[in-house]
Amino acid sequence: MKVLVADDDQISRKVVKAQLLKWGYEVVEAEDGEKAWQILNEEESLRMVIVDWMMPGIDGLELCHKLRESGDKSYHYIILLTSRDSKDDIIGGLNAGADDYITKPYMAQELEVRLRAGARILNLQQSLEKALEAQSYQAQHDSLTGLLNHRQILQVLENEIIRSARQGSSMAVIMGDLDHFKKVNDTYGHVAGDAVLIETAERLRNNIRLYDKVGRYGGEEFLLVLPGCTMDEALMIGKRILESIANQPIKFQDYSIPITISLGLAFNDIGAATDLADIVQAADAAMYQAKQNGRNRLELAAN
Ligand SMILES: [Mg+2]
Repeated sequence: MKVLVADDDQISRKVVKAQLLKWGYEVVEAEDGEKAWQILNEEESLRMVIVDWMMPGIDGLELCHKLRESGDKSYHYIILLTSRDSKDDIIGGLNAGADDYITKPYMAQELEVRLRAGARILNLQQSLEKALEAQSYQAQHDSLTGLLNHRQILQVLENEIIRSARQGSSMAVIMGDLDHFKKVNDTYGHVAGDAVLIETAERLRNNIRLYDKVGRYGGEEFLLVLPGCTMDEALMIGKRILESIANQPIKFQDYSIPITISLGLAFNDIGAATDLADIVQAADAAMYQAKQNGRNRLELAAN
Protein backbone atom coordinates (compact mmCIF):
# COMPACT_ATOMS: atom_id res chain seq x y z
CA MET A 1 0.00 0.00 0.00
CA LYS A 2 1.13 3.49 -0.86
CA VAL A 3 1.26 6.14 1.85
CA LEU A 4 1.62 9.88 1.46
CA VAL A 5 3.72 11.50 4.17
CA ALA A 6 3.21 15.26 4.34
CA ASP A 7 5.45 17.09 6.76
CA ASP A 8 7.39 20.32 6.37
CA ASP A 9 10.06 19.03 8.72
CA GLN A 10 12.50 17.08 6.62
CA ILE A 11 13.97 15.08 9.45
CA SER A 12 10.67 13.91 10.85
CA ARG A 13 9.53 13.11 7.29
CA LYS A 14 12.61 10.94 6.74
CA VAL A 15 12.12 9.15 10.04
CA VAL A 16 8.51 8.29 9.21
CA LYS A 17 9.52 7.25 5.72
CA ALA A 18 12.23 4.89 6.98
CA GLN A 19 9.76 3.26 9.35
CA LEU A 20 7.10 2.84 6.68
CA LEU A 21 9.54 1.31 4.23
CA LYS A 22 10.61 -1.15 6.89
CA TRP A 23 6.99 -2.20 7.37
CA GLY A 24 6.56 -2.74 3.65
CA TYR A 25 4.69 0.38 2.59
CA GLU A 26 5.51 2.47 -0.44
CA VAL A 27 6.09 6.10 0.43
CA VAL A 28 5.37 9.33 -1.39
CA GLU A 29 6.66 12.48 0.30
CA ALA A 30 5.26 16.00 0.32
CA GLU A 31 7.13 18.88 1.92
CA ASP A 32 4.02 20.95 2.51
CA GLY A 33 0.23 20.94 2.30
CA GLU A 34 0.06 22.43 -1.21
CA LYS A 35 2.26 19.69 -2.57
CA ALA A 36 0.27 17.03 -0.70
CA TRP A 37 -3.00 18.36 -2.15
CA GLN A 38 -1.52 18.34 -5.63
CA ILE A 39 -0.21 14.78 -5.32
CA LEU A 40 -3.51 13.49 -3.94
CA ASN A 41 -5.36 15.02 -6.85
CA GLU A 42 -3.01 13.42 -9.33
CA GLU A 43 -2.59 9.98 -7.81
CA GLU A 44 -5.92 8.30 -7.37
CA SER A 45 -4.40 5.17 -5.86
CA LEU A 46 -3.02 7.12 -2.91
CA ARG A 47 -5.59 6.63 -0.19
CA MET A 48 -3.52 6.57 2.98
CA VAL A 49 -2.27 9.91 4.25
CA ILE A 50 -0.08 10.78 7.22
CA VAL A 51 -0.17 14.51 7.63
CA ASP A 52 1.60 16.89 9.96
CA TRP A 53 -0.74 19.42 11.55
CA MET A 54 1.64 22.39 11.55
CA MET A 55 2.78 23.27 8.05
CA PRO A 56 3.09 26.57 6.21
CA GLY A 57 0.48 27.26 3.53
CA ILE A 58 -2.15 24.55 3.67
CA ASP A 59 -1.75 22.97 7.10
CA GLY A 60 -2.80 19.47 8.11
CA LEU A 61 -6.22 20.55 9.32
CA GLU A 62 -7.01 22.42 6.15
CA LEU A 63 -5.86 19.48 4.08
CA CYS A 64 -8.35 17.29 5.98
CA HIS A 65 -11.10 19.81 5.26
CA LYS A 66 -10.22 19.99 1.59
CA LEU A 67 -10.14 16.22 1.16
CA ARG A 68 -13.50 15.76 2.85
CA GLU A 69 -15.10 18.67 1.01
CA SER A 70 -13.94 17.60 -2.42
CA GLY A 71 -16.73 15.03 -2.30
CA ASP A 72 -14.33 12.63 -3.94
CA LYS A 73 -15.86 9.18 -4.04
CA SER A 74 -12.54 7.56 -3.22
CA TYR A 75 -12.03 7.65 0.53
CA HIS A 76 -8.77 8.86 2.03
CA TYR A 77 -7.72 7.59 5.41
CA ILE A 78 -6.02 10.46 7.21
CA ILE A 79 -3.75 10.16 10.22
CA LEU A 80 -2.94 13.54 11.71
CA LEU A 81 0.51 13.91 13.29
CA THR A 82 0.60 16.57 15.92
CA SER A 83 2.54 17.83 18.88
CA ARG A 84 -0.70 19.35 20.17
CA ASP A 85 -2.22 17.01 22.66
CA SER A 86 -4.95 18.95 24.43
CA LYS A 87 -8.46 17.49 24.25
CA ASP A 88 -9.65 20.52 22.27
CA ASP A 89 -6.93 20.08 19.68
CA ILE A 90 -7.71 16.42 19.28
CA ILE A 91 -11.42 17.09 18.91
CA GLY A 92 -10.60 19.86 16.40
CA GLY A 93 -8.48 17.48 14.35
CA LEU A 94 -11.11 14.76 14.25
CA ASN A 95 -13.76 17.35 13.49
CA ALA A 96 -11.77 18.50 10.49
CA GLY A 97 -12.12 15.01 9.09
CA ALA A 98 -9.02 13.18 10.30
CA ASP A 99 -9.63 9.49 10.91
CA ASP A 100 -6.99 9.19 13.57
CA TYR A 101 -4.23 11.20 15.18
CA ILE A 102 -0.89 10.53 16.77
CA THR A 103 0.79 12.94 19.13
CA LYS A 104 4.48 13.57 18.78
CA PRO A 105 6.70 12.20 20.09
CA TYR A 106 5.25 8.80 19.38
CA MET A 107 6.42 5.22 19.52
CA ALA A 108 7.06 3.53 16.20
CA GLN A 109 4.86 0.64 17.21
CA GLU A 110 1.93 2.98 17.78
CA LEU A 111 2.19 4.34 14.26
CA GLU A 112 2.48 0.80 12.92
CA VAL A 113 -0.72 -0.47 14.52
CA ARG A 114 -2.70 2.65 13.63
CA LEU A 115 -1.58 2.37 10.04
CA ARG A 116 -2.65 -1.24 10.00
CA ALA A 117 -6.08 -0.31 11.35
CA GLY A 118 -6.34 2.34 8.62
CA ALA A 119 -5.30 -0.12 5.93
CA ARG A 120 -8.04 -2.50 7.06
CA ILE A 121 -10.62 0.23 6.71
CA LEU A 122 -9.34 1.24 3.27
CA ASN A 123 -9.47 -2.36 2.11
CA LEU A 124 -13.03 -2.71 3.33
CA GLN A 125 -13.90 0.56 1.64
CA GLN A 126 -12.44 -0.67 -1.63
CA SER A 127 -14.30 -3.96 -1.56
CA LEU A 128 -17.47 -2.03 -0.87
CA GLU A 129 -16.82 0.24 -3.85
CA LYS A 130 -16.22 -2.78 -6.08
CA ALA A 131 -19.37 -4.48 -4.85
CA LEU A 132 -21.42 -1.36 -5.51
CA GLU A 133 -19.95 -1.05 -8.99
CA ALA A 134 -20.76 -4.66 -9.76
CA GLN A 135 -24.24 -4.21 -8.37
CA SER A 136 -24.87 -1.12 -10.44
CA TYR A 137 -23.61 -2.93 -13.56
CA GLN A 138 -25.92 -5.85 -12.85
CA ALA A 139 -28.85 -3.51 -12.29
CA GLN A 140 -28.34 -2.00 -15.73
CA HIS A 141 -27.41 -4.99 -17.89
CA ASP A 142 -29.07 -8.12 -19.11
CA SER A 143 -27.17 -11.03 -17.60
CA LEU A 144 -27.42 -13.31 -20.65
CA THR A 145 -26.37 -10.96 -23.44
CA GLY A 146 -24.57 -8.21 -21.55
CA LEU A 147 -26.73 -5.64 -23.34
CA LEU A 148 -28.51 -2.89 -21.43
CA ASN A 149 -31.66 -4.27 -19.85
CA HIS A 150 -35.23 -3.15 -20.49
CA ARG A 151 -35.28 -0.45 -17.86
CA GLN A 152 -31.86 0.95 -18.73
CA ILE A 153 -32.37 1.18 -22.49
CA LEU A 154 -35.59 3.09 -21.82
CA GLN A 155 -33.65 5.37 -19.51
CA VAL A 156 -31.10 5.95 -22.27
CA LEU A 157 -33.90 6.67 -24.71
CA GLU A 158 -35.51 9.13 -22.35
CA ASN A 159 -32.22 11.00 -21.93
CA GLU A 160 -31.66 11.07 -25.68
CA ILE A 161 -35.15 12.41 -26.34
CA ILE A 162 -34.47 15.26 -23.93
CA ARG A 163 -31.06 15.87 -25.45
CA SER A 164 -32.30 15.88 -29.03
CA ALA A 165 -35.05 18.37 -28.08
CA ARG A 166 -32.46 20.61 -26.40
CA GLN A 167 -29.89 20.40 -29.17
CA GLY A 168 -32.41 20.37 -31.99
CA SER A 169 -31.03 17.15 -33.43
CA SER A 170 -32.74 14.20 -35.04
CA MET A 171 -32.67 10.67 -33.71
CA ALA A 172 -33.93 7.20 -34.52
CA VAL A 173 -35.19 4.21 -32.62
CA ILE A 174 -35.18 0.68 -33.99
CA MET A 175 -37.20 -2.15 -32.51
CA GLY A 176 -35.95 -5.58 -33.54
CA ASP A 177 -37.54 -8.97 -33.01
CA LEU A 178 -35.97 -12.27 -34.03
CA ASP A 179 -38.10 -14.17 -36.51
CA HIS A 180 -39.59 -17.50 -35.44
CA PHE A 181 -37.48 -17.58 -32.33
CA LYS A 182 -39.87 -19.98 -30.62
CA LYS A 183 -39.05 -22.48 -33.33
CA VAL A 184 -35.34 -22.21 -32.51
CA ASN A 185 -36.07 -23.11 -28.89
CA ASP A 186 -38.43 -25.92 -29.89
CA THR A 187 -36.09 -27.39 -32.50
CA TYR A 188 -32.67 -27.01 -30.91
CA GLY A 189 -33.43 -26.49 -27.23
CA HIS A 190 -33.25 -23.50 -24.91
CA VAL A 191 -29.48 -23.56 -24.59
CA ALA A 192 -29.28 -23.12 -28.35
CA GLY A 193 -31.85 -20.34 -28.04
CA ASP A 194 -29.61 -18.60 -25.51
CA ALA A 195 -26.64 -18.97 -27.85
CA VAL A 196 -28.67 -17.35 -30.62
CA LEU A 197 -29.56 -14.41 -28.36
CA ILE A 198 -25.94 -13.97 -27.30
CA GLU A 199 -24.69 -14.03 -30.89
CA THR A 200 -27.46 -11.68 -32.03
CA ALA A 201 -26.48 -9.24 -29.30
CA GLU A 202 -22.88 -9.39 -30.50
CA ARG A 203 -23.87 -8.70 -34.11
CA LEU A 204 -26.07 -5.79 -33.05
CA ARG A 205 -23.21 -4.31 -31.04
CA ASN A 206 -20.87 -4.68 -34.00
CA ASN A 207 -23.15 -2.85 -36.39
CA ILE A 208 -23.99 0.31 -34.51
CA ARG A 209 -21.96 3.46 -34.10
CA LEU A 210 -19.91 4.16 -31.01
CA TYR A 211 -22.53 6.40 -29.40
CA ASP A 212 -25.56 4.27 -30.30
CA LYS A 213 -27.04 2.08 -27.59
CA VAL A 214 -28.69 -1.29 -27.77
CA GLY A 215 -30.70 -3.08 -25.13
CA ARG A 216 -32.52 -6.34 -24.71
CA TYR A 217 -36.08 -5.11 -24.59
CA GLY A 218 -37.78 -8.43 -23.99
CA GLY A 219 -37.21 -12.14 -24.65
CA GLU A 220 -36.08 -11.92 -28.27
CA GLU A 221 -36.75 -8.21 -28.68
CA PHE A 222 -34.04 -5.60 -28.97
CA LEU A 223 -34.27 -1.83 -28.82
CA LEU A 224 -31.69 0.42 -30.45
CA VAL A 225 -31.31 4.12 -29.78
CA LEU A 226 -29.46 6.06 -32.47
CA PRO A 227 -28.90 9.64 -31.36
CA GLY A 228 -28.10 12.46 -33.77
CA CYS A 229 -28.48 10.43 -36.95
CA THR A 230 -30.13 11.23 -40.25
CA MET A 231 -32.81 9.05 -41.79
CA ASP A 232 -30.26 7.72 -44.30
CA GLU A 233 -27.82 6.76 -41.59
CA ALA A 234 -30.55 5.02 -39.61
CA LEU A 235 -31.67 3.08 -42.68
CA MET A 236 -28.10 2.09 -43.39
CA ILE A 237 -27.59 0.81 -39.86
CA GLY A 238 -30.87 -1.11 -40.15
CA LYS A 239 -29.75 -2.67 -43.42
CA ARG A 240 -26.41 -3.64 -41.94
CA ILE A 241 -28.12 -5.32 -39.02
CA LEU A 242 -30.49 -7.29 -41.26
CA GLU A 243 -27.56 -8.54 -43.32
CA SER A 244 -25.25 -9.32 -40.42
CA ILE A 245 -27.93 -11.51 -38.87
CA ALA A 246 -29.36 -13.17 -41.98
CA ASN A 247 -26.13 -13.72 -43.90
CA GLN A 248 -24.51 -16.11 -41.50
CA PRO A 249 -26.26 -18.93 -39.64
CA ILE A 250 -25.44 -19.10 -35.97
CA LYS A 251 -23.18 -21.98 -35.01
CA PHE A 252 -24.12 -23.91 -31.93
CA GLN A 253 -22.44 -27.23 -31.20
CA ASP A 254 -22.99 -29.21 -34.41
CA TYR A 255 -25.92 -27.10 -35.51
CA SER A 256 -25.95 -24.26 -37.93
CA ILE A 257 -29.02 -22.23 -37.08
CA PRO A 258 -30.35 -19.83 -39.70
CA ILE A 259 -31.84 -16.72 -38.17
CA THR A 260 -33.39 -13.45 -39.32
CA ILE A 261 -34.74 -10.39 -37.61
CA SER A 262 -37.58 -7.97 -38.32
CA LEU A 263 -36.95 -4.30 -37.67
CA GLY A 264 -39.19 -1.31 -37.14
CA LEU A 265 -37.67 2.14 -37.42
CA ALA A 266 -39.13 5.28 -35.88
CA PHE A 267 -37.42 8.49 -36.88
CA ASN A 268 -37.68 11.64 -34.86
CA ASP A 269 -36.95 14.64 -37.04
CA ILE A 270 -35.09 17.75 -35.99
CA GLY A 271 -37.01 19.69 -33.38
CA ALA A 272 -39.97 17.32 -33.42
CA ALA A 273 -41.29 16.86 -29.92
CA THR A 274 -41.99 13.32 -28.92
CA ASP A 275 -42.40 11.26 -25.84
CA LEU A 276 -40.98 7.95 -24.90
CA ALA A 277 -44.13 5.90 -25.19
CA ASP A 278 -44.99 7.35 -28.62
CA ILE A 279 -41.64 6.63 -30.23
CA VAL A 280 -41.37 3.12 -28.76
CA GLN A 281 -44.90 2.35 -29.88
CA ALA A 282 -44.20 3.69 -33.37
CA ALA A 283 -41.08 1.53 -33.71
CA ASP A 284 -42.99 -1.45 -32.36
CA ALA A 285 -45.86 -0.98 -34.82
CA ALA A 286 -43.36 -0.70 -37.70
CA MET A 287 -41.65 -3.89 -36.53
CA TYR A 288 -45.01 -5.64 -36.47
CA GLN A 289 -45.59 -4.39 -40.01
CA ALA A 290 -42.23 -5.91 -41.03
CA LYS A 291 -43.47 -9.25 -39.68
CA GLN A 292 -46.69 -8.89 -41.66
CA ASN A 293 -44.75 -8.07 -44.81
CA GLY A 294 -42.71 -11.23 -44.72
CA ARG A 295 -40.04 -10.78 -41.98
CA ASN A 296 -36.27 -10.30 -42.41
CA ARG A 297 -36.94 -6.69 -43.38
CA LEU A 298 -37.21 -3.18 -42.04
CA GLU A 299 -40.30 -1.07 -42.05
CA LEU A 300 -40.51 2.61 -41.36
CA ALA A 301 -43.00 3.97 -38.85
CA ALA A 302 -45.72 6.17 -40.31
CA ASN A 303 -45.33 9.72 -39.07
MG1 LIG B 1 5.33 20.87 10.89
